[in-house]
Amino acid sequence: MEDIQPIKNWEVVRGRSTPIAIAGPCSAETEEQLYQTCKGIKENVDITMLRAGIWKPRTRPNTFEGVGEIGLKWLKNVKEELQMPATVEVANAKHVELALKYEMDVLWIGARSTVNPFTVQEIADALKGVNVPVIVKNPINPDLALWLGAIERIYNSGIRDIAALHRGFSSHEETKYRNSPMWQLPITLKSKFPNISLLCDPSHIAGTRDLIYPVSQKAIDLDYDGLMIETHCDPDNALSDAKQQITPDRLAEVLAEVKIRKNKT
Ligand code: PEP
Ligand code: MN
Repeated sequence: MEDIQPIKNWEVVRGRSTPIAIAGPCSAETEEQLYQTCKGIKENVDITMLRAGIWKPRTRPNTFEGVGEIGLKWLKNVKEELQMPATVEVANAKHVELALKYEMDVLWIGARSTVNPFTVQEIADALKGVNVPVIVKNPINPDLALWLGAIERIYNSGIRDIAALHRGFSSHEETKYRNSPMWQLPITLKSKFPNISLLCDPSHIAGTRDLIYPVSQKAIDLDYDGLMIETHCDPDNALSDAKQQITPDRLAEVLAEVKIRKNKT
């Protein structure tokens, strides 16, 4: 897998901010919320790519499960107006088809999908012959082989623009984190796939706003290639992950505070 392309070489992000910074709401909720959030991000930060959840993998039923296809239409409009690439989560073949129909630039596989080889294979099959970069989040449980296997399935579908994203792991132990970082696992992944770019999602590791900065700093200190940070124009009233989302203003502060190694190109 030596021919996996580092994210900085991906056509879609080339020339944009380095380290990679991906930001946007946990969920697209309304057209206005998505627009206000993304506009606020673009005005405040040198960002690489927007993100938004369209279909939300909620743990319990009867909670907000995402707006579905209409959200892709909103995001397409936003990214065209702001001249920014965007990424969304896909969890089945239909999601892949719709995300590509609305010209999403990068797809990501969520933690609850990475655990399931059937799901990952379905996504990989839907991607055969398609040239779109894919970000693979770690599985929710600390099983490195599942993460490696998901990356291999996407690779075997012909895709070479693949990045790994560390969002922490479920753990029975009570810790200050929502998902335990277990920093050794992504480091081991990187030793097995040296060319793969490694991103960190401090939002889902932290679970609370006050930990976004220290987790981001730790990732950059460990030489990660970038960050994906959930950002919302009105975090307290977010329909999902309200406690961990930050405003575009705070995002700008966090990214300014994170000490980025000078020699990173
Ligand atoms: C998300 O990014 O909003 C999300 C659902 O993430 P994860 O798959 O890491 O839980
Ligand atoms: Mn989320």
